[in-house]
Amino acid sequence: MKIAILSRNPRLYSTRRLVEAGEQLGHEVDVIDTMHCYMDITSSNPSVRYNGQPLPKYDAVIPRIGASVTFYGTAVVRQFEMMGTYSINESVAISRSRDKLRSLQLMSRKGLGLPKTGFAHHPDKIGDLLKNVGGAPVVIKLLEGTQGIGVVLAESNKTAESIIEAFMGLKANILVQEYIKEAGGADIRCLVVGGKVIAAMKRQGAEGEFRSNLHRGGTASLIRLSPEERRTAVEAAKVMGLNMCGVDILRSNHGPLIMEVNSSPGLEGIEAATGKDVASMIIQHIEKTAFLSNTKTKGKG
Ligand code: ADP
Ligand code: MG
Repeated sequence: MKIAILSRNPRLYSTRRLVEAGEQLGHEVDVIDTMHCYMDITSSNPSVRYNGQPLPKYDAVIPRIGASVTFYGTAVVRQFEMMGTYSINESVAISRSRDKLRSLQLMSRKGLGLPKTGFAHHPDKIGDLLKNVGGAPVVIKLLEGTQGIGVVLAESNKTAESIIEAFMGLKANILVQEYIKEAGGADIRCLVVGGKVIAAMKRQGAEGEFRSNLHRGGTASLIRLSPEERRTAVEAAKVMGLNMCGVDILRSNHGPLIMEVNSSPGLEGIEAATGKDVASMIIQHIEKTAFLSNTKTKGKG
Protein backbone atom coordinates (compact mmCIF):
# COMPACT_ATOMS: atom_id res chain seq x y z
CA MET A 1 0.00 0.00 0.00
CA LYS A 2 0.92 3.64 -0.35
CA ILE A 3 0.46 5.31 3.01
CA ALA A 4 0.83 9.01 3.90
CA ILE A 5 1.38 10.18 7.44
CA LEU A 6 0.14 13.70 7.90
CA SER A 7 2.51 15.16 10.43
CA ARG A 8 4.29 18.44 10.95
CA ASN A 9 7.52 16.80 11.96
CA PRO A 10 9.04 13.55 10.64
CA ARG A 11 11.37 13.40 13.64
CA LEU A 12 8.60 12.96 16.22
CA TYR A 13 8.64 9.54 17.90
CA SER A 14 5.11 8.58 16.81
CA THR A 15 5.72 9.62 13.21
CA ARG A 16 9.05 7.76 13.05
CA ARG A 17 7.55 4.60 14.50
CA LEU A 18 4.64 4.60 12.06
CA VAL A 19 7.05 5.01 9.11
CA GLU A 20 9.25 2.22 10.45
CA ALA A 21 6.33 -0.15 11.07
CA GLY A 22 4.75 0.60 7.68
CA GLU A 23 7.98 -0.02 5.81
CA GLN A 24 8.69 -3.20 7.75
CA LEU A 25 5.29 -4.50 6.74
CA GLY A 26 6.16 -3.85 3.10
CA HIS A 27 4.38 -0.56 2.45
CA GLU A 28 5.55 2.68 0.92
CA VAL A 29 5.25 5.40 3.55
CA ASP A 30 5.61 9.16 3.05
CA VAL A 31 5.49 11.84 5.71
CA ILE A 32 3.56 14.86 4.46
CA ASP A 33 3.61 18.16 6.34
CA THR A 34 -0.09 18.93 6.73
CA MET A 35 0.44 22.68 6.87
CA HIS A 36 2.36 22.70 3.58
CA CYS A 37 -0.42 20.98 1.66
CA TYR A 38 -2.53 23.23 -0.56
CA MET A 39 -5.62 22.47 -2.52
CA ASP A 40 -7.89 23.64 -5.28
CA ILE A 41 -11.31 23.01 -3.82
CA THR A 42 -13.24 24.02 -6.93
CA SER A 43 -11.73 21.40 -9.17
CA SER A 44 -13.98 18.52 -10.26
CA ASN A 45 -10.96 16.30 -9.76
CA PRO A 46 -9.94 16.94 -6.15
CA SER A 47 -6.24 16.79 -5.43
CA VAL A 48 -3.72 17.88 -2.85
CA ARG A 49 -0.64 19.78 -3.98
CA TYR A 50 2.65 19.71 -2.15
CA ASN A 51 6.00 21.21 -3.08
CA GLY A 52 4.72 22.39 -6.46
CA GLN A 53 3.25 19.05 -7.52
CA PRO A 54 0.06 17.09 -7.06
CA LEU A 55 0.51 14.32 -4.48
CA PRO A 56 0.23 10.77 -5.82
CA LYS A 57 -2.85 8.73 -4.96
CA TYR A 58 -2.45 7.21 -1.50
CA ASP A 59 -4.40 4.18 -0.32
CA ALA A 60 -4.49 5.44 3.24
CA VAL A 61 -3.60 8.46 5.35
CA ILE A 62 -2.80 8.55 9.05
CA PRO A 63 -3.61 12.03 10.33
CA ARG A 64 -1.48 13.24 13.22
CA ILE A 65 -3.06 16.64 13.64
CA GLY A 66 -1.91 18.80 16.54
CA ALA A 67 -4.59 20.67 18.49
CA SER A 68 -3.26 24.05 17.32
CA VAL A 69 -3.76 23.19 13.63
CA THR A 70 -7.10 21.37 13.81
CA PHE A 71 -8.93 23.77 11.50
CA TYR A 72 -6.55 23.54 8.55
CA GLY A 73 -5.48 19.98 9.28
CA THR A 74 -9.01 18.59 9.13
CA ALA A 75 -9.59 20.42 5.83
CA VAL A 76 -6.56 18.60 4.39
CA VAL A 77 -7.87 15.25 5.65
CA ARG A 78 -11.28 16.03 4.13
CA GLN A 79 -9.61 16.69 0.78
CA PHE A 80 -7.96 13.25 0.90
CA GLU A 81 -11.35 11.73 1.68
CA MET A 82 -12.84 13.51 -1.34
CA MET A 83 -10.14 11.84 -3.44
CA GLY A 84 -11.32 8.47 -2.13
CA THR A 85 -8.33 7.94 0.17
CA TYR A 86 -9.04 6.03 3.37
CA SER A 87 -8.22 7.96 6.53
CA ILE A 88 -7.87 5.95 9.73
CA ASN A 89 -9.68 8.80 11.47
CA GLU A 90 -12.14 10.76 9.44
CA SER A 91 -12.02 14.51 9.32
CA VAL A 92 -15.46 14.95 10.93
CA ALA A 93 -14.53 12.66 13.79
CA ILE A 94 -11.30 14.57 14.44
CA SER A 95 -13.15 17.91 14.51
CA ARG A 96 -15.79 16.44 16.80
CA SER A 97 -13.19 15.16 19.25
CA ARG A 98 -11.38 18.51 19.37
CA ASP A 99 -14.45 20.23 20.75
CA LYS A 100 -14.37 19.20 24.43
CA LEU A 101 -17.92 20.31 25.14
CA ARG A 102 -19.34 18.58 22.12
CA SER A 103 -17.44 15.41 23.02
CA LEU A 104 -18.76 15.41 26.59
CA GLN A 105 -22.29 16.11 25.40
CA LEU A 106 -22.16 13.25 22.89
CA MET A 107 -20.82 10.82 25.46
CA SER A 108 -23.32 11.92 28.08
CA ARG A 109 -26.13 11.38 25.56
CA LYS A 110 -25.00 7.76 25.24
CA GLY A 111 -24.96 7.34 29.00
CA LEU A 112 -21.18 6.93 29.36
CA GLY A 113 -19.62 7.60 32.76
CA LEU A 114 -18.28 11.15 33.00
CA PRO A 115 -17.21 13.31 35.94
CA LYS A 116 -20.04 15.66 36.88
CA THR A 117 -19.30 18.63 34.63
CA GLY A 118 -20.63 22.14 34.21
CA PHE A 119 -19.59 24.57 31.54
CA ALA A 120 -19.96 28.24 31.27
CA HIS A 121 -18.77 31.34 29.49
CA HIS A 122 -20.06 34.09 31.72
CA PRO A 123 -22.22 32.66 34.48
CA ASP A 124 -24.28 35.15 36.52
CA LYS A 125 -24.26 32.82 39.46
CA ILE A 126 -20.88 31.20 39.96
CA GLY A 127 -22.06 29.76 43.26
CA ASP A 128 -24.85 27.90 41.49
CA LEU A 129 -22.48 26.57 38.85
CA LEU A 130 -20.27 25.18 41.62
CA LYS A 131 -23.20 23.78 43.59
CA ASN A 132 -24.38 21.93 40.51
CA VAL A 133 -21.20 19.88 40.28
CA GLY A 134 -21.22 19.20 44.01
CA GLY A 135 -19.13 22.12 45.29
CA ALA A 136 -15.40 22.26 46.12
CA PRO A 137 -13.02 20.63 45.58
CA VAL A 138 -13.49 21.11 41.84
CA VAL A 139 -11.28 21.02 38.79
CA ILE A 140 -11.51 24.05 36.53
CA LYS A 141 -10.35 23.66 32.94
CA LEU A 142 -9.68 26.08 30.16
CA LEU A 143 -11.34 24.63 27.12
CA GLU A 144 -8.41 25.40 24.87
CA GLY A 145 -5.81 23.83 27.16
CA THR A 146 -3.72 20.74 26.41
CA GLN A 147 -1.04 18.79 28.24
CA GLY A 148 -2.43 19.80 31.60
CA ILE A 149 -1.94 23.54 31.08
CA GLY A 150 -5.03 25.46 32.17
CA VAL A 151 -6.25 22.64 34.45
CA VAL A 152 -6.55 23.90 38.03
CA LEU A 153 -7.65 22.24 41.25
CA ALA A 154 -9.64 24.54 43.53
CA GLU A 155 -9.84 23.17 47.06
CA SER A 156 -12.45 25.60 48.33
CA ASN A 157 -15.47 27.34 46.85
CA LYS A 158 -13.84 30.73 47.50
CA THR A 159 -10.75 29.75 45.48
CA ALA A 160 -12.94 28.28 42.76
CA GLU A 161 -14.89 31.52 42.49
CA SER A 162 -11.74 33.64 42.17
CA ILE A 163 -10.31 31.37 39.49
CA ILE A 164 -13.57 31.36 37.54
CA GLU A 165 -13.76 35.15 37.78
CA ALA A 166 -10.19 35.45 36.53
CA PHE A 167 -10.90 33.17 33.56
CA MET A 168 -14.10 35.09 32.85
CA GLY A 169 -12.10 38.30 32.73
CA LEU A 170 -9.99 36.69 30.01
CA LYS A 171 -13.19 35.77 28.12
CA ALA A 172 -12.21 32.11 28.18
CA ASN A 173 -14.59 29.18 27.92
CA ILE A 174 -14.31 27.01 30.98
CA LEU A 175 -15.42 23.71 32.30
CA VAL A 176 -15.96 22.98 35.98
CA GLN A 177 -15.73 19.36 37.05
CA GLU A 178 -16.12 17.37 40.24
CA TYR A 179 -12.67 16.43 41.50
CA ILE A 180 -12.18 12.67 41.51
CA LYS A 181 -9.96 12.52 44.56
CA GLU A 182 -9.90 8.73 44.77
CA ALA A 183 -8.14 8.58 41.38
CA GLY A 184 -5.09 9.60 43.43
CA GLY A 185 -3.45 11.76 40.76
CA ALA A 186 -3.56 8.92 38.26
CA ASP A 187 -5.51 8.19 35.11
CA ILE A 188 -5.65 5.38 32.60
CA ARG A 189 -4.84 5.86 28.93
CA CYS A 190 -6.50 3.25 26.74
CA LEU A 191 -5.41 3.06 23.14
CA VAL A 192 -8.36 1.96 21.05
CA VAL A 193 -7.76 0.80 17.48
CA GLY A 194 -10.50 -0.70 15.33
CA GLY A 195 -12.93 -1.04 18.23
CA LYS A 196 -10.47 -2.84 20.54
CA VAL A 197 -8.25 -1.67 23.36
CA ILE A 198 -4.83 -2.70 22.02
CA ALA A 199 -2.77 -1.23 24.87
CA ALA A 200 -3.36 0.51 28.17
CA MET A 201 -1.20 2.29 30.71
CA LYS A 202 -1.60 3.99 34.03
CA ARG A 203 -0.19 7.48 34.31
CA GLN A 204 0.68 8.71 37.77
CA GLY A 205 1.24 12.40 38.45
CA ALA A 206 4.47 13.49 40.11
CA GLU A 207 4.50 13.77 43.91
CA GLY A 208 2.03 16.45 45.02
CA GLU A 209 0.58 16.85 41.52
CA PHE A 210 -3.01 15.88 40.69
CA ARG A 211 -2.40 16.04 36.93
CA SER A 212 -1.02 12.83 35.48
CA ASN A 213 0.17 14.26 32.13
CA LEU A 214 3.54 12.83 31.14
CA HIS A 215 4.46 16.35 29.99
CA ARG A 216 3.97 17.48 33.61
CA GLY A 217 6.37 14.88 34.99
CA GLY A 218 3.93 11.98 35.30
CA THR A 219 5.18 8.40 34.98
CA ALA A 220 3.63 5.54 33.04
CA SER A 221 3.24 1.90 33.98
CA LEU A 222 1.47 -1.21 32.78
CA ILE A 223 -2.07 -1.80 34.01
CA ARG A 224 -4.78 -4.44 33.76
CA LEU A 225 -8.14 -3.06 32.79
CA SER A 226 -11.39 -4.26 34.27
CA PRO A 227 -13.97 -5.45 31.73
CA GLU A 228 -16.03 -2.35 32.52
CA GLU A 229 -13.08 -0.06 31.81
CA ARG A 230 -12.42 -1.84 28.54
CA ARG A 231 -16.07 -1.53 27.50
CA THR A 232 -16.13 2.15 28.44
CA ALA A 233 -13.06 2.93 26.33
CA VAL A 234 -14.39 1.03 23.31
CA GLU A 235 -17.79 2.71 23.61
CA ALA A 236 -16.20 6.18 23.86
CA ALA A 237 -14.23 5.58 20.65
CA LYS A 238 -17.41 4.41 18.94
CA VAL A 239 -19.45 7.42 20.05
CA MET A 240 -16.72 9.73 18.76
CA GLY A 241 -16.45 7.79 15.50
CA LEU A 242 -12.69 7.35 15.88
CA ASN A 243 -10.94 4.20 14.60
CA MET A 244 -7.81 5.14 16.48
CA CYS A 245 -7.77 7.15 19.68
CA GLY A 246 -6.56 7.47 23.22
CA VAL A 247 -9.34 7.35 25.79
CA ASP A 248 -8.42 8.77 29.19
CA ILE A 249 -10.29 7.33 32.15
CA LEU A 250 -10.38 8.19 35.84
CA ARG A 251 -10.96 5.37 38.32
CA SER A 252 -13.69 6.66 40.61
CA ASN A 253 -15.53 4.85 43.36
CA HIS A 254 -18.58 4.84 41.12
CA GLY A 255 -16.84 3.22 38.14
CA PRO A 256 -14.73 4.42 35.21
CA LEU A 257 -15.25 8.03 34.18
CA ILE A 258 -14.10 9.34 30.82
CA MET A 259 -12.03 12.49 30.92
CA GLU A 260 -11.15 12.96 27.29
CA VAL A 261 -10.68 11.30 23.93
CA ASN A 262 -7.61 12.12 21.87
CA SER A 263 -7.62 11.53 18.11
CA SER A 264 -3.82 11.79 17.69
CA PRO A 265 -2.57 9.75 20.65
CA GLY A 266 1.19 9.69 21.20
CA LEU A 267 2.89 6.31 20.90
CA GLU A 268 6.05 6.84 22.91
CA GLY A 269 4.68 6.53 26.45
CA ILE A 270 2.38 3.63 25.69
CA GLU A 271 4.93 1.59 23.70
CA ALA A 272 7.47 2.06 26.49
CA ALA A 273 5.01 1.19 29.27
CA THR A 274 3.53 -1.87 27.59
CA GLY A 275 6.43 -3.10 25.45
CA LYS A 276 3.94 -3.51 22.61
CA ASP A 277 4.59 -2.67 18.98
CA VAL A 278 1.58 -0.36 18.80
CA ALA A 279 2.72 1.23 15.52
CA SER A 280 2.60 -2.14 13.71
CA MET A 281 -0.84 -2.85 15.16
CA ILE A 282 -2.08 0.44 13.71
CA ILE A 283 -0.64 -0.37 10.27
CA GLN A 284 -2.15 -3.87 10.42
CA HIS A 285 -5.54 -2.35 11.17
CA ILE A 286 -5.17 -0.14 8.10
CA GLU A 287 -4.27 -3.19 5.99
CA LYS A 288 -7.52 -4.81 7.06
CA THR A 289 -9.81 -1.82 6.57
CA ALA A 290 -8.40 0.52 3.90
CA PHE A 291 -9.96 -1.31 0.97
CA LEU A 292 -13.35 -1.98 2.51
CA SER A 293 -14.38 1.53 1.43
CA ASN A 294 -16.06 1.91 4.79
CA THR A 295 -15.14 5.57 4.93
CA LYS A 296 -18.58 6.83 5.73
CA THR A 297 -18.48 10.48 4.87
CA LYS A 298 -16.08 10.73 1.90
CA GLY A 299 -15.46 14.34 2.86
CA LYS A 300 -19.18 15.13 3.06
CA GLY A 301 -19.18 16.09 6.73
P1 ADP B 1 -5.45 18.12 29.21
O1 ADP B 1 -6.30 18.07 27.97
O2 ADP B 1 -4.73 19.40 29.35
O3 ADP B 1 -4.58 16.89 29.33
P2 ADP B 1 -7.17 16.89 31.18
O4 ADP B 1 -8.62 17.14 31.25
O5 ADP B 1 -6.72 15.60 30.60
O6 ADP B 1 -6.49 18.11 30.42
O7 ADP B 1 -6.56 17.05 32.66
C1 ADP B 1 -5.19 16.87 32.94
C2 ADP B 1 -4.98 15.90 34.11
O8 ADP B 1 -5.60 16.39 35.31
C3 ADP B 1 -5.62 14.55 33.89
O9 ADP B 1 -4.75 13.68 33.18
C4 ADP B 1 -5.92 14.05 35.30
O10 ADP B 1 -4.78 13.42 35.87
C5 ADP B 1 -6.20 15.34 36.06
N1 ADP B 1 -7.65 15.58 36.12
C6 ADP B 1 -8.40 16.20 35.18
N2 ADP B 1 -9.69 16.26 35.52
C7 ADP B 1 -9.80 15.67 36.72
C8 ADP B 1 -10.88 15.41 37.62
N3 ADP B 1 -12.12 15.80 37.32
N4 ADP B 1 -10.61 14.77 38.78
C9 ADP B 1 -9.35 14.35 39.07
N5 ADP B 1 -8.29 14.58 38.28
C10 ADP B 1 -8.49 15.22 37.12
MG1 MG C 1 -5.30 14.96 29.20
